[in-house]
Amino acid sequence: MPEFRKDPVTGRWVIISTERGKRPSDFRLEPLAVIRIESCPFRAGREDMTPPEVLAYRQSGGAANSPGWDVRVVPNKFPALQVEGNLDREGEGLFERMNGIGAHEVVIETPDHDRTLATMSELEIERVLWAFRERVLDLRQDRRFRYVLIFKNHGAPAGATLEHSHSQLIALPIVPDFVREEVEGARRHFAAKERCVFCDIIRQEVASGRRVIHENADVIALSPYAPRFPFETWLLPRSHGARFEEAPRQQYESLARMLKSVLLRMDRALESPPYNLVIHSSPFSEETGSFYHWHVELMPKLTRTAGFEWGTGFYINPTSPEEAAQVLRAAKP
Ligand SMILES: [Zn+2]
Ligand SMILES: [Zn+2]
Ligand SMILES: [Zn+2]
Repeated sequence: MPEFRKDPVTGRWVIISTERGKRPSDFRLEPLAVIRIESCPFRAGREDMTPPEVLAYRQSGGAANSPGWDVRVVPNKFPALQVEGNLDREGEGLFERMNGIGAHEVVIETPDHDRTLATMSELEIERVLWAFRERVLDLRQDRRFRYVLIFKNHGAPAGATLEHSHSQLIALPIVPDFVREEVEGARRHFAAKERCVFCDIIRQEVASGRRVIHENADVIALSPYAPRFPFETWLLPRSHGARFEEAPRQQYESLARMLKSVLLRMDRALESPPYNLVIHSSPFSEETGSFYHWHVELMPKLTRTAGFEWGTGFYINPTSPEEAAQVLRAAKP
């Protein structure tokens, strides 16, 4: 059973997951052994190579765990956390631990091995977003969970061991640090100004236009003022809302269009970079409705994090966001 342990000095939680260590690829540094088409378990017709699906969209019908699906969600075969059991949070002198309980699922975005999120149609991308929503709505009913992390690693340098386009969901009993920091920062801004900091950012960025990459009816893409990584990009819904899974229907449609546009721009301007994508949304059990604002963060993997970053916590970014926005604006698909 994996285990959460809390660092007694900083309060930071880590997961000790010895079972996952059995995967030799976890210890090998780059290049990762990427599983290619011949042995791909995510292709249509290979449904028996994954655990049984928890959700699938089949426009043309067909039985569960058989071909004919458009999007398919399955439990991760090598989960970082275990879904069954109790948290059993306990102290041991100074130390605190709890069982490594969580749900770890894989969203197979397309049956077609050769497509990427950027080359899928807007409708297909939107369907993936609906699958995210449906899984979050289901998982948040489980009282043990406080957050569902939705993320995507694209390309081996970004951590993907399977080539086939997919995303992951991890339901967690602890709110991740980055969400905690954002929620607390947004709460402070709201306490001082009675406004949402993200809505304020959108207003100011639209007014200046310098860091705006692209806008559509409901979503804006921009290079944030203080990006950690070159070409880091945020996709924000224009209208205020704290939770991704409660967004109005048209925002998924607009987000799908925006994702495709931004990913195509990155493919064009940066030669199809590996990237990480993370959805930032409100923790379940907190009233953050007035001040937190869900969004998507997209980080092309163009540099390596080195000792300086790990040592100081400061990221050194060689590309200014003004320049990044200009490059991506120009790389119109
Ligand atoms: Zn495949
Ligand atoms: Zn807002
Ligand atoms: Zn964020």
